[in-house]
Amino acid sequence: MRVEDLLTYGKQYCHSDHVKLLLADLLNLNPLELLNHLEDIIDQEVCDKYKSEINALRNGIPLQYAIGSVNFFGNTYLVNENVLIPRFETEELVENTINYIKDNFNGPIKILDIGCGSGVIGLTLKQKFPNASIDLLDISKEAIEVARKNASLLQLNVNFIESDVFSNVNEKYDVIISNPPYIKTDEEIEDIVKNNEPHIALYAGSKGLDIYQKILSQAKNYLKDKYLIALEIGATQRQDLLDLINTYFKNVEIVTKKDLSDKDRMIFIYKSE
Ligand code: GLN
Repeated sequence: MRVEDLLTYGKQYCHSDHVKLLLADLLNLNPLELLNHLEDIIDQEVCDKYKSEINALRNGIPLQYAIGSVNFFGNTYLVNENVLIPRFETEELVENTINYIKDNFNGPIKILDIGCGSGVIGLTLKQKFPNASIDLLDISKEAIEVARKNASLLQLNVNFIESDVFSNVNEKYDVIISNPPYIKTDEEIEDIVKNNEPHIALYAGSKGLDIYQKILSQAKNYLKDKYLIALEIGATQRQDLLDLINTYFKNVEIVTKKDLSDKDRMIFIYKSE
């Protein structure tokens, strides 16, 4: 089939933007370049793969799982149904954390990414700070498998720990970063998220605070004297987080930040010595 026929086929069933992204990905093209290839004849094998991905989209599978990858901070990461699909907001968490580290730490530091999922946070940090020693931790063996593949594709040397928060952690870190599950058990979320993404990566108890509680109540045992904790938070959780932090930390600097959609999204706890 020709590219044009494939596009027409896909558009019968799915949003044309999704169709273009999906086909461009299969052909290793930028979606804008497709128009220059409308007459190209595509191998049967690729056509079959395309049709099965269109079928997955029709059945309500998120585009990123249908394609099997996602872009984060300029790199391509494999994703599947065992990991959360990385979000734009998390790029903002990483970007702010990079700036914090540059401004406040010198030399090789140790970083722990709690709930690494596909590995986007820890692996981006490894790329930006090649001398840092970075541990990627997740409770899910399947998620760690995905993160391991991503590390190897990006040729980044990091360590992996299968652990329920700190239960298998034995070291002290300069930086702990996490985008933990933070959705409330009864919170309304989009069906496409609820029906496809791993609930263990989304939900965290009646107030969505269970994992923050676990992290913050024990973090000091796993931090050096000077440290940074960087957390992604839900848009309505800022005050709850401030209360939790004040329960467990004294004499720290706390900064909260909004994301580009003007929602409370990040919280940074910094201790200078
Ligand atoms: N750290 C991963 C991400 O930010 C996974 C987060 C999660 O599973 N809650 O995408």
